[in-house]
Order: sequence, then C-alpha cells, then structure tokens
Amino acid sequence: MDPLRRLADRFARLLSGSGPLAAGRGFASGVLALALAGLALLAVLAFHFPEYLTTPELRRRYPVELLRQFLLAALVLAGSVSLVNATLGRTRWLNASAFAIVVLAVALGGHRVPVGDFADGTPYLGVDWFVLDLLGSALVFVLLEKLSPLRPGQPVFRADWQTDLGYFAVNHLAVGLLLLVTNALVHAFFGWASYPPLQQAVRSLPGWVELPLLMLVADLAQYWLHRAWHRVPALWRIHAVHHSIDTLDWLAGSRMHLLDMLATRVAVLGMVFVLGFSRWAIDLYIVIVAFHAVLNHANVRLPWGPLRHVLVTPEFHHWHHASDRQALDRNFAAHFPFLDRLFGTLHRAPGELPARYGVLGETLPRGFLRQQWHPFRRPTP
Ligand SMILES: [Zn+2]
Ligand SMILES: [Zn+2]
Repeated sequence: MDPLRRLADRFARLLSGSGPLAAGRGFASGVLALALAGLALLAVLAFHFPEYLTTPELRRRYPVELLRQFLLAALVLAGSVSLVNATLGRTRWLNASAFAIVVLAVALGGHRVPVGDFADGTPYLGVDWFVLDLLGSALVFVLLEKLSPLRPGQPVFRADWQTDLGYFAVNHLAVGLLLLVTNALVHAFFGWASYPPLQQAVRSLPGWVELPLLMLVADLAQYWLHRAWHRVPALWRIHAVHHSIDTLDWLAGSRMHLLDMLATRVAVLGMVFVLGFSRWAIDLYIVIVAFHAVLNHANVRLPWGPLRHVLVTPEFHHWHHASDRQALDRNFAAHFPFLDRLFGTLHRAPGELPARYGVLGETLPRGFLRQQWHPFRRPTP
C-alpha cells in the first residue's frame, strides 16, 4: 500500500474509533497535539478572514493581543509535543501529522497574522466561537469529569463522540444563522403581544428579582413545551434525537434536532420578550443557560447539598435521559427541579444511577445528517 493511502487509512480508523486512549507510545499526547494543532490552524484562518470566520458579537469584545498569546502557546505546545514524539519514533504517523499541521499554521502567519479594517455585515461561520468554546468547555468539563465523575472510568472519547462533536460544530458554526432565524420567529409569533405597562413594571424590578424571575418564566415555558415533545407522537420523533444519546457527558447535550432547538429557543425567548425583561438580564440568562445545559449532561458528581432541591443537577437530568421504566417522562425542568415536584413529574433516587440511557425500543442512526432526517422517515413498526 502506498504511504499516503496508509496514512489516510490510519486517520480514518483514528477518527471513527472510540474508547480509552492507549497510554504510552505517544498516542494520547499525539491525539492532544493533533487536536490542538487543528484548532490552532482554524484560529489562524479566522485571523486571515475575520469577516467570514468570526462572530460579530464576540469579535467586538476580543482582547486580541491575549488571543494571539494563547494561539502562540497552543502552537508551541502542539509543536513541541509532536516533534519530541515523532523524533523518538512514538506513534510517528500521528505525531508527524500533528507537527505538519503546526508548520502549516506557522507558515500561514501563525499568531502574527495582521488584522486590518474589514467589512461588517457579511455572512459568517462562527469558527472563533467553535474554537474558543470547544477549548474552554473541554478544559473545564474534562477536568471535572476526571476529578469527580458520576460514572468513573468513562473515556473522553466514548462511543459515538463523533456524532455529538458534529452537533457541537454545527451549533457553533451556524450561530449567526440560528440567531437570525430565532429572532425572526420570535417577532413573527410574539411581536403582537406586547403590553408596555407590564414590560415597564418588569424592567423596574430590582436585579436580584428580575434575573431569577426571568429564569423561572423561561423554565416554565421550557417545562411545558418539553412535556409536549414527550407526549405528542410526532413531536417525540423529533425530540427522540436528543434522547438517543446512550453515554452522557459534557458534549452529549449538543445533540438536539434543529427543530427542537429552534422551537424551544423561540418559546422561551418569546415569553421573555413579551414580559419585556432587560437586555442585561437576557444576556446573563443566555450565558447561564448555555453553561447549565452542558453541566446537566456532564458526567460530574458535585457536592450539591440542599441546593439539589433548588437547582437542576447532572443526577437529576441524567434520570430524564434514563430508559429505565420507572423514570420515563420524568424530570423535565432545565433549571428548577421544584417545577417537576409541583407538576407531579419528579423522579429522585438518591445514590442510584440509571441502568441505561437512550430511546426505549429504538436505535437511531448515527451522524448529524441522518439524525436530522430520521424523524421524517416512516417509523418502523
Ligand atoms: Zn426530553
Ligand atoms: Zn438532555
């Protein structure tokens, strides 16, 4: 077999594989170097084409010099690890490839790519958001999952991580389009329903009341829509995509059918818009909900204490994903578990974990595109 073909075969096997990374032989460190080199290369491209590859809401606030230092550190780290491994003959094909990507990123300008004036308002992919959120979330949550796991021994590259990374990529790269569609739908559905005196009253609440109230309103909207996704068969076929995950971790929560994600965002933000909450409260809520959604799926055990009755924890949401019969259609809340207590859908089993996750009686296909199409296929009897 010619060397290029062999390299392509090895990469295909690497990218389709799963399980713990074999220790020693420079494999685990090679995978890390490869991932870091790939992200660094994407960052260099984003510096070259900021108008097409960065998110306007983020790039206005960037500490650019600091980001350049991060990029340099990533290049040095990935470059030195892969070079040492490759020189010592430790999984040479992998480490030499990682080093080649570092060389390419440096040849394209590395951390020194100048950024001049550029047009605003161009269509864009959120490459910057993808790179930064993937790095940040992986760093925080992989560390938490290793330090204090709910299920010890679950590997980072667990079964079907590729599907969920695909969702993560689409959700981040298409951030602009999703925002545009969500805003248009919120205004189309809820634009008529504004009552200025009520909005004025909400906006004049003190901050420490307004934010929790916003979260409560959002979770109430989410709770009832979520129950509908489970109750109505045609809706369940769409929501089942989110429930098709059989290994839960920080990345798993990204898996959600686009219609599910859009409808939930429109319903929640619609209520928030009608009640006229302040801009700062909405912005803060979006940060909180993004973090809480990732945490709820993470394989993390934290010492919640009595807070577990007030805030949704990973244990609580893991039971929502259980396919154990006693836990089906339970724990719909995203922030406040007392909503499930109030409406009679709470399931708690202190000290226990679900026997299995996933959709009862059905196995969904793998991959983003196949899962997007799956709800519209004729159900198998
Ligand atoms: Zn659900
Ligand atoms: Zn979930």
